[in-house]
Amino acid sequence: MKKRFITIWLVGFASLATFGILAGTVHEAFFFGCFVVIIVVSTALMNVSCPHCGTAVLYRDQKAFGLSINGFRPWPPDHCPNCKRELPL
Ligand SMILES: [Zn+2]
Repeated sequence: MKKRFITIWLVGFASLATFGILAGTVHEAFFFGCFVVIIVVSTALMNVSCPHCGTAVLYRDQKAFGLSINGFRPWPPDHCPNCKRELPL
C-alpha cells in the first residue's frame, strides 16, 4: 500500500519537474503537461481504497467546532478510517 504511494508521488514529482523544466526552457505549452500530471496523480491517489471495506483511505472526515470537514490527506493512515482495520504496507 505505502509502496504504491511512494511510487505515485515519485512518478508525479519526476513528471512535474520534467514538464516544469521543459516549460521553462522549450515552450510554455508544456505547462499543460503539469496540469495533466497533477490531475492524473490526484486521481490515482484518491482511487486507493481499503482492501477490506473499499473506503478511499485518503478520505478524511474531520469534526471541528461542530462542523464536519471533508477532505483528502496526502498520506495514508495506518488504519482504515472506516473499518479501523490495519492497512497492508
Ligand atoms: Zn476499511
